[in-house]
Order: sequence, then C-alpha cells, then structure tokens
Amino acid sequence: MTIAVVLFTADLRLHDHPPLHAAQRTADEIVPLFVRDPGIHATGFDAPNRQAFLTDCLTDLDEQLRQRGGRLVVRTGPVAREVTAVAVECGATEVHMAAGVTRYAHQREQLLREALAAQGVTLHVHDNVTTAVAPGALTPTGTGTDHYAVFTPYYRRWSQMPLRDPLPPPGTVRVPDTARGESLPSAKDVDDTSPGLPQGGETAGRTRCARWWSGNLSQYEDRHDDLADDATSRLSPYLHFGALSPVELIHRARAHGGPGADAFVRQLCWRDFHHQTLAARPDTATTDYRTRHDQWRGEDDAVEDIAAWRDGRTGYPIVDAGMRQLRHEGWMHNRARLLTASFLTKTLYVDWRIGARHFLDLLVDGDIVNNQLNWQWVAGTGTDTRPHRVLSPVAQGKRFDPRGTYVRRWVPELAGVEDRLIHEPWRLPREMRAGLDYPEPLIDLADGLARFKQARGRD
Ligand code: FAD
Repeated sequence: MTIAVVLFTADLRLHDHPPLHAAQRTADEIVPLFVRDPGIHATGFDAPNRQAFLTDCLTDLDEQLRQRGGRLVVRTGPVAREVTAVAVECGATEVHMAAGVTRYAHQREQLLREALAAQGVTLHVHDNVTTAVAPGALTPTGTGTDHYAVFTPYYRRWSQMPLRDPLPPPGTVRVPDTARGESLPSAKDVDDTSPGLPQGGETAGRTRCARWWSGNLSQYEDRHDDLADDATSRLSPYLHFGALSPVELIHRARAHGGPGADAFVRQLCWRDFHHQTLAARPDTATTDYRTRHDQWRGEDDAVEDIAAWRDGRTGYPIVDAGMRQLRHEGWMHNRARLLTASFLTKTLYVDWRIGARHFLDLLVDGDIVNNQLNWQWVAGTGTDTRPHRVLSPVAQGKRFDPRGTYVRRWVPELAGVEDRLIHEPWRLPREMRAGLDYPEPLIDLADGLARFKQARGRD
C-alpha cells in the first residue's frame, strides 16, 4: 500500500491539478492536505476578505473530495512541521505540491524538503500549476539575463509556448483513516469583510467561467476598459487562490477564438509575466524594480492626503468611485486600479508601497506578485516603458466613464450632477456645490504634475 500527501497551497481545485494527478497515479491512497500557516498570519497577509474567500474555497474543496469518497485534511502550524507529521502518521512516502514564486514560498519549500528528507519522504514540486508557463522557462536570447523586463517580447515568446493539456479531476479519492485533521474554518469566524464579496471556491469559479465563455468574452477587447459596463471576467480571485487553472482557461479561450478571447489570453499572460519577474527579483515585493531615485512622501508627510485617498474623499469623482468600490467589494476594476494608483503615486507623490499595502488589506485577489508589480508599473519604478506618464483623473473619467454611471454607482452624493460636469463637480455653480456633501479637490492637478516632473527631473 503506497500513500502520498498532496499539499494544497494556492491551487485550491480538483480540475487540472498536476500534483493531485501525479499522486493519484502512483499511490493507492492520498492525503489531501491544507495547512493553515501562522507564518502567513505574521506577515499580515491574511486580510479578512481573503480569509473569507479562502474559507469558501476550503469548504468547496472538502465537499468535492467527499463526493469522490475522500475529504480535506486541515491542520494548523508551521508548514514543514505539519506536513512531515502527517506524512509520518500516515506512512506516506512522497509529498506533491505546486511550485511557488515568492521568497516566502521558496523558504517554505526548502524547509519542507529538509524536514521530509530527514524522515525519508520525497518532495515532488510541480510547475505550471499556478501559472501557465513556469517562471524562468523563457529567457531573452543573447542578453544574459534570467527574465524578461519588457512585456511585449515576453508575450510573443509566451504565445508560442506549447501548453500541456488540462488534466481531468480525479474519479475516486481514497484517504487513509490514519489522516487526522481539525474542523474546517468557518466563514462566521471572519470579521470585517467587505459586504459585496464574491462567493469563493472552485464550484463558484466554474459557474462564473461558464457565464464568461457564453457572455462578455466576445466583447472583451472593446469593453474591458469601460468602467460602467463592468464587462471583465472577475476571475482574478479564483486565479489568486488557484480555484481555477490558468492553463485550462487559456485552452478554453483559444478554443473559443476571436478578438475578445485573444485579448483575454493576453491579460492572462500579464500574470505570468509578473510571476517571472518576481521569481527572478524577489526583492521587488518591497523595493523598486528600477529606481527613479524618488524621494516619495510617506505616511508622516502626507497623512491627510493618504486618508482622503483611502476613504474615497479626494474630490476627484473617478478616484473616489474606485476607492469606494474597493472597500465595498474587495475588488476594483483594472482601469480604476490604474488611475487610483497613478493619482496616489504621481499626483500626490506618495510612496507606492503605501498604496500597495492598502490594496492588499482589501483586495480579495490581492497577491504579492500582481499587486506589487502592477503598483510599480504605475509608479514608474517597474517594467512600464513609459515610466513618467501621469493619468489625469478628469481625462480618464471622461474617456472611460463618459456618462458618469460608474461614478454615480459609487459616489451617490453626485447622483444628481449632469453628465457634462460629473468628473469636474468643482465647476458647478457655487450654490449647487454647497448643497453637495462632497469635498473640493484635494490638490490642483497642475500642481501635482509640476511636483512630479520636478521630482523625476523632467521639467
Ligand atoms: P480580466 O480583465 O478579466 O483579466 C483576466 C485575468 O487576467 C485576471 O483575472 C488576472 O488574473 C489577469 N490580469 C489582468 N490584468 C492583469 C495585470 N495587469 N496584471 C496581472 N494579471 C492581470 N491583479 C491581481 O490578480 N491581484 C492583485 O493584487 C492586483 N493588484 C493590482 C494593483 C494595481 C495597482 C493594478 C493597476 C492592477 C492590479 N491587478 C491585480 C491586475 C488587474 O487589475 C486585475 O487582475 C484585474 O482587474 C482583475 O479583474 P478581472 O478578473 O475581471 O480581469
């Protein structure tokens, strides 16, 4: 009788799961294991919105395993200690898990490998589980560097890479009786979540996907930036927790075909691009990918500006709408992420790490890779080839929310303002402004621009 442990991390699904598939092939019984890691709690990364979504994912995974005769084993403690203990208790000879890219994930893997080796247990780490193309699999030829620093050439090579076929979910799962776990965490135990959070879990993710394939995907290319339409997939939290597989999504989108599907696949490539960047430069989770020698304003220099930005009270309606959507849903439209981040870093000239931290506190899809590197992209310290561009909230509002529908949805104080002035309420007659419970602009855009240009030595 051979027994294998399958350690689930950011891959909380049964469809297209290489570690599970490999373990099922070689072992008679498997232990599907999730470890609640106090190390993650210590980093402050387990924000309530993601905890709630994670709880849904674990509940769903357990239910799906039970439908196949198995169950999810949950333990709490340092990962290396718990996995090794489970392996020894059950007499497992191997452990399968997905590769991670962050420094934390590498350390975890290293500790686990050592602890298992001491017990004679082998660790198998599988690529292409959380990304479609493994970080490091593509390197620019002839440059001597270990990763791509520019998206477009990466995308060209990435598009030509053969993808493995998606794997079917297991039929029957046999779990040894000796596998002991604790009861699953309950959503009721998580406080301070956003009221509009989506339902987590692979089942909910696949339902959303089914709607996506037959719904907005075809128009994605034309409508993905339209704030009012809200016509993007909203699959990011499911991808973050691995409740959906990027490999499977790419296969499905390519089979669907058309400009919308191509544009969607291109966005999925951005995920892999950022993963390969962070894997090569783990330091960029906290430090500039490319320094611009910024002397950013920090928490102490810009207390009121930061508070107004976080609370959605900057006086720039499109910025405030985005920030309020984030608080309410734990999610924000990509266009709004771009312009709220540009406003903080370039117009208010506040350190990108302060904005990234606030996003991580709330985003249900918040992850170190995509959050930190997108923040750096916007701040101009990352991989953007136009690092000094500044997005005007007025121009962005007029372009991507021309009738003010998105603003009115999230900033009801402005519900009665006519379309023409919805992105510039300060131009309303004084007596009308006095009747609105809405702040005056926090800063003159021209002043913000002048400060930024000076800081970057571009005036
Ligand atoms: P869709 O438009 O439907 O795109 C499909 C998928 O492609 C997304 O689910 C996502 O997995 C991927 N994707 C799309 N755009 C990007 C991108 N720019 N970078 C990486 N992957 C992308 N995304 C996160 O998943 N987690 C984060 O913490 C995160 N923080 C961000 C912070 C800032 C400042 C910015 C500008 C962007 C951030 N993004 C982040 C990227 C992007 O905004 C979200 O992935 C997207 O809005 C999710 O919505 P969707 O699923 O409807 O996306």
